[in-house]
Amino acid sequence: MSIQTVGIIGAGTMGNGIAQVCAQAGIGVVMIDINEAAVAKGVATIAGSLDRLIKKDKLTAGQKDAALALIKGSTNYEDLHAAQFVIEAATENEALKIRILNQLDTLLAPEVIVATNTSSISITQLAATTKRADRFIGMHFFNPVPMMALVEIIRGLQTSDETHDRVKDLAQRLGKSPITVRNAPGFVVNRILIPMINEAFFVFAEGLATPEDIDAGMKLGCNQPIGPLALADMIGLDVCLAVMDVYFKEFSDSKYRPCPLLKEYVAAGRLGRKTGRGVYTY
Ligand code: NAD
Repeated sequence: MSIQTVGIIGAGTMGNGIAQVCAQAGIGVVMIDINEAAVAKGVATIAGSLDRLIKKDKLTAGQKDAALALIKGSTNYEDLHAAQFVIEAATENEALKIRILNQLDTLLAPEVIVATNTSSISITQLAATTKRADRFIGMHFFNPVPMMALVEIIRGLQTSDETHDRVKDLAQRLGKSPITVRNAPGFVVNRILIPMINEAFFVFAEGLATPEDIDAGMKLGCNQPIGPLALADMIGLDVCLAVMDVYFKEFSDSKYRPCPLLKEYVAAGRLGRKTGRGVYTY
């Protein structure tokens, strides 16, 4: 049966982006958050994002209205009864996600597939806490969801082929280009990206080149749209460090040792753009 309604848990940065792309693909959405203010903010963000598309002539006012009409915001998990598929995009906290997944198990029909948008928690481990381990999967969207083409589909050890194929179909219906990944810390993209940023910090710390020249090197030599140090400032140096700490611990491998200079910047509160200063000053 083709999916007509998707439930989305969390109306934040990722949840509202996923809701938007579902609605633009003509799929009904029930978007759940913990209070009315969070739901209203999510819906307003979607409306603003659709308005920007209208300004760029990528969408008509009629299409905006049609997309918004497909989205029902709610604080009541019971409203998920219409959903044939649920994507969990709540705050990154393992205990919280397990609580949500347990609640979904009691509400949803057994055949409903549940996907999580987690960036860092093991899909296999989360699957093991549910009553639908073979119908549980990672669906890792990238920020900003309406702009970014990639979705990593992460198979836990228990995920069935049928679940994988249905999620891949859905990602394609949303206009995304999925890649299939076996569960492991960082999946594929962040597993490569964050150690590269960490290495750029080592190069900087060793005084091999200025930050500007390191970034120019990677832009001009590798065609990257932004240099690794400028990107680190965008992501947040604390986030980069936390991810390296996870790899170091999970793989027990010294190749994931966080750069001491990265640690020192974080200790100093120089977290990047969000604090006005990281590698660069904003
Ligand atoms: P966010 O803080 O913007 O939004 C999270 C939302 O979840 C909040 O609105 C919060 O109120 C809501 N929430 C908390 N508990 C809830 C509950 N019990 N039921 C329903 N809603 C609840 O966070 P985000 O950036 O959207 O991240 C969401 C998930 O997506 C996380 O797992 C994160 O790791 C992942 N992710 C984030 C990014 C990114 O760049 N922000 C990229 C890929 C994946």
